[in-house]
Amino acid sequence: MFQKANMIVLKVTRDCNFKCKYCYLGDYKYPDSYMSFETFQLLVNKVVNERIKYQNKSVIKFVFHGGEPLLTKIEDLSKMIQYLKDKGKIIPIDIGIQTNLSLLNEEYLSLLTSNNIDFGLSYDGLGNEGRSDTFKRKDYDKKIKMIYDKGIPVSFLMVINKNNINKIKKTIKYLYKKFKVTDYKMNYVIDIFGNQSIEVTGKEYFNKVTKYFIDNIDKKFNDSNVNHLIEKYFTEVLFKDSDFFNRENCSTMFCGAGLNIIEIEPNGNILFCGRYSKETEDNTLCHIKDSQFLDLNYQSKIINYAYKKHEIIKKVKCDICIAKNICDFGCMAFHYSRYGEYGIQTYLVCDLFKITYKYLQDNEYKILEKLFLKNNKRLKIKSQGNGRRLNHNRFSVKKLINKYKINFGYSKNNNEFIFE
Ligand code: SF4
Ligand code: SF4
Repeated sequence: MFQKANMIVLKVTRDCNFKCKYCYLGDYKYPDSYMSFETFQLLVNKVVNERIKYQNKSVIKFVFHGGEPLLTKIEDLSKMIQYLKDKGKIIPIDIGIQTNLSLLNEEYLSLLTSNNIDFGLSYDGLGNEGRSDTFKRKDYDKKIKMIYDKGIPVSFLMVINKNNINKIKKTIKYLYKKFKVTDYKMNYVIDIFGNQSIEVTGKEYFNKVTKYFIDNIDKKFNDSNVNHLIEKYFTEVLFKDSDFFNRENCSTMFCGAGLNIIEIEPNGNILFCGRYSKETEDNTLCHIKDSQFLDLNYQSKIINYAYKKHEIIKKVKCDICIAKNICDFGCMAFHYSRYGEYGIQTYLVCDLFKITYKYLQDNEYKILEKLFLKNNKRLKIKSQGNGRRLNHNRFSVKKLINKYKINFGYSKNNNEFIFE
């Protein structure tokens, strides 16, 4: 089950001290939902044994998640981290945490930093500080400062919704000025509980977020999701190629749920991914204590899941869509959580990605040039196919080569083209 996984989401609790309106867990209080050390240990042992058995030497990342993972007592968290560190001497392991920051204190910070834990901060920016009644901007600032004072690189995860979408630019400027924050991962909110007051439209998201990051691609700040879709666009048009069938964690036609990403609930149930609001027969792969004969039950669930996605993609007609190579295809777990079945929120996803594709087409040269200049007149573009030829007759490539009198070469080792 864990042979192909690159990420294990450890839902160490479902409990949370915040009240985010968009949270897919719905209720915020799950006081009895804490993962026992026994469950944690069973999982880690299974992962390690499988990696050794199948000789998989790639890094696997364990991410402490929730709910709010810092609600876990420091002694328990420390024991879990130490256990992972010990196993890290046997197989390559990375550790991360996704936290809302509010409970971070010197003790937790020292535990996390001394063990090189990657920080993902859930922070929705100015205008969305109302995720908690008591935790306000000045409180966030104090915690961000604690982390930045230690020189720790962090990525800010922002869920874009009606309350914060109009303050994105202000937030970016504020955080840059105050803390030199540059790295973001912005996600559009998916309304799981029919709370229409929080969802933004695809068009609005494009105008206020995607377009802003594309237009400012030469600036210091960046959104990893926009970077990724620009990369996918150029891979398609410059190599007549695509990562159409490439399976990544999220943002691809067949996302990695159940294969690349596997999630464990506090009670030991193993789910396809961490974004389901509830556990059901459909999304639960097994329990950590189940002994599975040849993983047959797991495999049939994975095949069934892929089949359902295939049917959805056929129904929505993604295979003939102009934006299919940059689209993120929505999140199946969110759709399932809202409607009780798999599908794509076409009213949001299709609007967003079709407009984005058109904009990238219309501004292709401008973006390519900005990327080239930002990178000191050097640009690397990865080819997804194996050494496929660059489409150097493409107008944007010709223009760049002629204007800057540059050459391009192909690096076989990294499977990328380099303009310089
Ligand atoms: S179900 Fe959603 S969150 Fe999970 S891997 Fe797929 S796209 Fe990502
Ligand atoms: S924009 Fe819509 S139709 Fe096109 S690939 Fe994405 S989900 Fe499919």
